[in-house]
Amino acid sequence: MEAVAVRPEVAGTLAAVDPEVETIIRAENRRQHNKIRLIPSENYASQAVLEASGSILTNKYSEGYAGARYYEGQREIDKIERLCVERAKEVFGAEHVNVQPYSGSPANQAVYVGLCAPGDTVMGLALAHGGHLTHGDRVSISGMHYKSVQYGVCRDSGEIDFDQVEALAKEHRPKLLFCGGTAYPRIVDFARFAEIGHSVGAIVIADIAHIAGLVAAGMHPSPVPHVDVVTTTTHKSLRGPRGGMILCRAQYADAIDKAVFPGLQGGPHNSTTAAIAVALKEATSEEFKLYAQQIVANAQTLAAALSVRGFALSSGGTDNHLILMDMTNKGITGYAMAKALDASGIVCNFNRVPFDPRPARKPSGIRIGTPAITSRGFGAEEMEQLAEWMDRVAQVRANKALELDDRKAEYAEITTEVRALCARFPAPGLLYDGGGKPL
Ligand SMILES: *Cc1c(COP(=O)(O)O)cnc(C)c1O
Repeated sequence: MEAVAVRPEVAGTLAAVDPEVETIIRAENRRQHNKIRLIPSENYASQAVLEASGSILTNKYSEGYAGARYYEGQREIDKIERLCVERAKEVFGAEHVNVQPYSGSPANQAVYVGLCAPGDTVMGLALAHGGHLTHGDRVSISGMHYKSVQYGVCRDSGEIDFDQVEALAKEHRPKLLFCGGTAYPRIVDFARFAEIGHSVGAIVIADIAHIAGLVAAGMHPSPVPHVDVVTTTTHKSLRGPRGGMILCRAQYADAIDKAVFPGLQGGPHNSTTAAIAVALKEATSEEFKLYAQQIVANAQTLAAALSVRGFALSSGGTDNHLILMDMTNKGITGYAMAKALDASGIVCNFNRVPFDPRPARKPSGIRIGTPAITSRGFGAEEMEQLAEWMDRVAQVRANKALELDDRKAEYAEITTEVRALCARFPAPGLLYDGGGKPL
C-alpha cells in the first residue's frame, strides 16, 4: 500500500477533528455572550489577541532570552519577544521587563526565587483582607517556604492599615514587601509602601495583576517610579492572553531573568508572548484609554446604584474596577447571593470581606468588577439596570416566604431580561453568525 501523507491543513478543522471539544467551546462562547460577566479578573480578549495566541508560534521551543537561546531557529521568535519587551517598557516606563512568566502566580514565584531565600521573611496583604494567595498565604508556596507576615485593612475604613504595615515592617524587617491585591477596591498608595519598605531594607514589589490596564491607561497611579519590582498578569484589565510579566529596576534584571529561566520554567510560550505584544499595542490606543476610564466610571456608577439600594460596600465604594460587598445586612451570605445571581444570568464570585466571621468556602461577601462588561460596551444605563437586577435577586433569595420553585421562576425571568440586554452588546473576540447570534 502506498503511504498517504496527511497534511494538517487538509486534515481538518477542530469541528471535524474533535466535535466534542468544538461543541464545548461553542457552548462556552454562547455562555460568554448570554451572561453578564462580573468576575473582576475576567475580560474579553480581542480577536487580534486571540489570533496571535492561537498561532503557530506555539510550535517553537525557545529556552533562554532573545539573542541567547539554547535552541536554533529563533530569528522570528527573538523579534517577537524583543518587540513585546520594548512595548511593555514603553507602556509602563520600566527599566527591565521579563515577558516569559506563564501567569501571575509563576511571576510572583520568580520574585521569591530570584530575590530571597527559603526561610526569609516576606510580607503581604492577607488573603482575607483582599491580598493574593501568592503574597504569603499559608496554603501557597509563598507561605510554606518563607516566613510570612501578613498585614490587613482598617476595620472602619476598609483601607490599608499603614500603621500596621509600618509596625510589622519595623518588627520583622522583611526581605520582600508585597503590595497590591485581588479584592481591594481602592487606590494603592505605592509611594507609601515603598517608603516603609525601603526604610527597613526590604525590596518592594507591587502586584498590579488586576489593575494593569488601569495603570497602562493612567487611571491608577503607576507603581513603577516607586517600587523595585512590579508583577502582573496580562489577561485581566490589560485584556491580553493568559500570561504574566515582571517589570523591574535594572539592578534586579539578572536575578529576575535567571529565576524565570532556568530557575522555574523551561521554554516560554511564544504564542502568548506575541499576544501580549498585541495587547500592549492595543493598550496604547486612544480607544483603550477611554475603555479604562469607562471601567472606573461604570464601577462607580454601579457602586452608587448598589449603595442607594442598601448594599454594604467594603470601604464604602470603589476607586478602580472592583466592588466588594457584604451581603449580611440583606439577610443572606455572599455564597447564596453568588449562586442566586448565577441562576439569574449574572456571574460573580463569592468572596470573604475583611474581618469576615464566615469561612472562605461560604463567606459573607461577593466580588464584582467591570472590565468584561465594559469591553462589551455597557455604560451608565446598564449599570443602573444591573443594580436593579441584583437588588431583585437579593430580595428573592432572602424571602423565606417564597417556595424554591417561585424563586426559580423569578431567577428565570431575570435571566430572560439579562439575555435580551446581552443580545444588544456583542462582545469582542466571540464567534457570531452573520445575523449577530453567538455560534
Ligand atoms: C490574579 C492574580 C494573580 C495570579 O494570577 P494567575 O494568572 O491566576 O496565576 C496574582 N496576583 C494577583 C494580585 C492577582 O489578582
